[in-house]
Parts: sequence; C-alpha cells; structure tokens
Amino acid sequence: MQVITSTPLSGTARYFSRPVTYRWLISIAVAALLTLAFNQILLRHILLLGSWALLWPLLALLFLINVLLCQLLSIGALQKPWLITLLGMAAGSQYFMQQYGVLIDKGMLVNALETDSHEVAGLLSYAMLPYFALYLLLPASLIIWLKPRQLSFGRGLQHYITTSLVSVALLVLLVLTQYQSYAGILREHRYLKHQAVPLNILNASASLLQSKTAQGMAPNFSYYAADASRVSHQGKPKLIIMVLGETIRADHLGINGYPRDTTPRLARRDIINFGAIDACGTATAVSVPCMFSYLNHSNYDETLAKNSDNLLDVLQRAGVKVLWRNNNSGCKSMCDRVETDHFTADNPYNCAEGQCPDRVLLHNLKQRILDSKPYHQPVFIVLHQLGAHGPEYFKRSLPAQKAFLPECSSNLLNQCERQHIVNAYDNAVIATDELLDETIALLEQLNSEFDTAMLYVSDHGESLGENGVYLHGLPYWMAPAAQTRVPMLMWFSDGYKKALALNTDCLKRTEKVSHDNLFDSVLSLYEVKTNAKRPELDIITPCLLHKARG
Ligand SMILES: [Zn+2]
Repeated sequence: MQVITSTPLSGTARYFSRPVTYRWLISIAVAALLTLAFNQILLRHILLLGSWALLWPLLALLFLINVLLCQLLSIGALQKPWLITLLGMAAGSQYFMQQYGVLIDKGMLVNALETDSHEVAGLLSYAMLPYFALYLLLPASLIIWLKPRQLSFGRGLQHYITTSLVSVALLVLLVLTQYQSYAGILREHRYLKHQAVPLNILNASASLLQSKTAQGMAPNFSYYAADASRVSHQGKPKLIIMVLGETIRADHLGINGYPRDTTPRLARRDIINFGAIDACGTATAVSVPCMFSYLNHSNYDETLAKNSDNLLDVLQRAGVKVLWRNNNSGCKSMCDRVETDHFTADNPYNCAEGQCPDRVLLHNLKQRILDSKPYHQPVFIVLHQLGAHGPEYFKRSLPAQKAFLPECSSNLLNQCERQHIVNAYDNAVIATDELLDETIALLEQLNSEFDTAMLYVSDHGESLGENGVYLHGLPYWMAPAAQTRVPMLMWFSDGYKKALALNTDCLKRTEKVSHDNLFDSVLSLYEVKTNAKRPELDIITPCLLHKARG
C-alpha cells in the first residue's frame, strides 16, 4: 500500500491522509474479511463435524467465491457502495444466525419480508449496536476512508480482468482437486450452504426474485370448485369459528401430555383433540396460504396458492358468509376477497392489530354474528391470533395469565435462561387456552340461533433453544418436530352434531391428520357439494352416520 500526497502536509495532516491503494486489493481485503469475520457459524459447524481436513479447502473455496462477488461491481464509483452492501448483508445474516440459530434461505427471507413493523421491533434491541458498530460501521468506514489509486481506463480494466481471471482459475483448480470432499460434506450437511456468508443471503434473494418474477407472470386467477353449492338449507344455519393459531407447538399443551397444565380450561371441555398433526410449513408465510389453498404440503406453490380460489372463496361461493378478523401480521392474501375486520386503537385494549392481546378477536364478535342472522346464512369466521409469536413471548400473555415465572423478558433469547424462555412461552399457551375456552363460551351463547362449532389449528411450532435453535422457519426437511408438529382441536355443539349426524367418537379415532385435510373437511362441515371434493383428504364424511337409508 503506497501513500501518495500531492502537496506538502503538516505532521498531523499527513497522519490523517487517506491511504491510496489499488481497487483489486480493496476487493481482496473485503473478501478475506467476509470469509473470516462473518462465517463464525459455518466455521464452528465444520469444526463440530470434526472436519479439520476440510477446513482449509472450504475456507479457500469461500474466499475465492467472495473475491468474485466483491469483484462483481467493483468498477469505478460503484465499488464502495457495493462492498458496503455486501458487508451489510453479511453482518445482518451472521447476527440473526447467531442470535436465533436460524438459517438464511428463501423461506426465511419471505418470512422476513412479510413481517410487519411490530414484529421487526420485536427483533431489534440496543444490544445489537456494539455488534453492528464492530462488524458494519468500522469496516464500512475503512472502505470509505481508503482512496482507490487513479489509473487509466486501460490499466484499471487490465487489473479488473486479471484479478477476476486468476480467481476463476484458482477456483476451478480447487474444485477439480477437492470435488469429492466438497460433494461429500455438502450433500450430507445441506445446511452448510445456508450458513456461508454472504453467499446465503445472495442465493436466497436470487431465488426469491426468481419466484416473484414467476409470480409477476402468473397465469390469470384460476377458479377452483366453481360448482360449489350447499346441500342443506334446512334447520338452523351453521356457525364455525376457526381460531387460526400462531407458533403453538403441539407438545406444550397439557391436553397433549405436556407435564405442565397449560390447558386447564380445554381439559374441562368436551373437545375432539387430534393431538400433534403435521404442519404444511415451518413459517406463517407458507403454512397459512397452504392451509387455505387446495394445495398440499407435497405440491404447495406460493404463486398458485395466491392466484387461485381458496377455501374462503369456495365457501363464499356456496353461500357461506365469511369473516376474517386479524390480530397477526396479515392474512397472506387469503382474505383478499372476503370481509375483514381490522383492529384500530379503538377497542378496549387500546391497541392496534398485530400487537393486541388475542382477546381482542372476540371484541364485539357476538353482535357481528347476530347482524348476519336475518339472512339465515351459515357463517365461517377466522380469528387469526398472535398466539405465541416470538421472540417476545412475555408480551403474549396478560398479567393474570402468567402462571410460570420468572419469564425471559428480552428478545435476545440466547441471553436468557432456557427455563425462563419456556416459562414465557407456556404463559402464551395459557392465553390461547383461555381464548379457545372463551370462543366456545361465546358459541354456546349463540346455540339458539345457530348450530355452532369451533376449529383450532396452529400454523407451525417453535424451537425454544433445543440444540441452540430458536424461533421457526427452518427448511422443512431439517426442521425439528418442535417446528412442524402442531395442535388441532374441534368442538361441536349438540345441535351441530345432530344436524350433521356426526359421530364424534369416530372423529376422535382419526389418525394421520395434517394441514392437508383442512380444505375438504371444512367443506364437509358445511355440507358443500362439489365435484372437486377429494374424499381421501376429507376426515368428516367417514364419520357421518347415514341419515337416510333405502
Ligand atoms: Zn406463524
């Protein structure tokens, strides 16, 4: 590095004069920094695998890839903004991987982009400041401080091409000689590529962009079950409230055998408990559209799910009045064509949706339902709760619901004792137990007007620090049961059971239930007739007593 000064300077001024260096050297320095300072998680995992012999070949591979990434836009005035952007992405990736044990992939990025401002606020903390000062502010300031050496266009181009070509050549040589070992470890431990910074976030962005472009060119809206109609118009109209759960894992419910009594109220109700069922995804952004669309875990496609008739559209077409009430970050396009209640601060809790206690979902609901009575129409209501959404679990229960203390009251989960995290989470389960009990109580009050039922199902579970993993959203193939196994419950009034001729003992014996069963089963609960019905996914019809024979 050579310091060039154009005019004679005093001692202090010379001390502060900006070092002048070649652009290609700046790229290489940043690539080395990215490889060594921002890949602490990857390095730790490689060492944990006992792969000392692989450490240097993998580091060399990552370094060369990073040189090429840095070189990509290291042309003229673009270089500094580009390198600082890379540093910013790297710093963010490493921070969230370290804090929450997450992996950076397309699913996590979708999750992050569909997050609302309250959820973002829940992830931010002052404790981030020293980290970002060290890993972003300091290196970015150094980059700004360095002065690229002025070269003729030809010389600059020559340096650029030489650096890039040498890197490519070394990369090819490395891959040719080390292919077997790379392929072996990356095939066996697929998660490693989601830990390589900043390749992981660039990769995730590219595949997200790809699917968004595909979405932009999506075929026209497609109709599903266009022939849907209701069989029965006799008797009282049916009313089902579906409580769409958030972040509740099946094994933390007392009624599912959890040693703590987190569901005292549900335990006293005559409910049909399906135990732990398989969720479609490990994040709201996948599970919610998957649950309501006719697509399944095996063939789920975001573009198609959001551009087709979903369960709510089909119910509405069959003459069911549909209402979505929201206390979550949004309905992921599922409620686009149905009536939706948003909570502004004008409610007993003085809160905006997305940060209210879930009880707000029942506010004024009885009147909303009775308003529809003159139309003698069946009603389907979705209450999209906040459930146990993290990391600020302690905010998900009211003081009277806090049975387990002390609670972790920080959003930096790895700084809390694990038991305190679990305490706060379990208190959120208690809040859900109360919400479900109060929903059933409300339905009981409406029994003279409607045949009533409740359906509860959570969207995905949550990791609470097992093996250093927190939150949710891991790729499905590697996600622990804590994230994929969720509770599902049903409750029916006597009138509903009778009107449908439903054998609830039969329903209780149903095995292998998953989110895939929701679409066709809810249609059956309203006796919707359509040729699109898939009997193999319907868990209701096999449990109907034959009303008319002969
Ligand atoms: Zn969720």
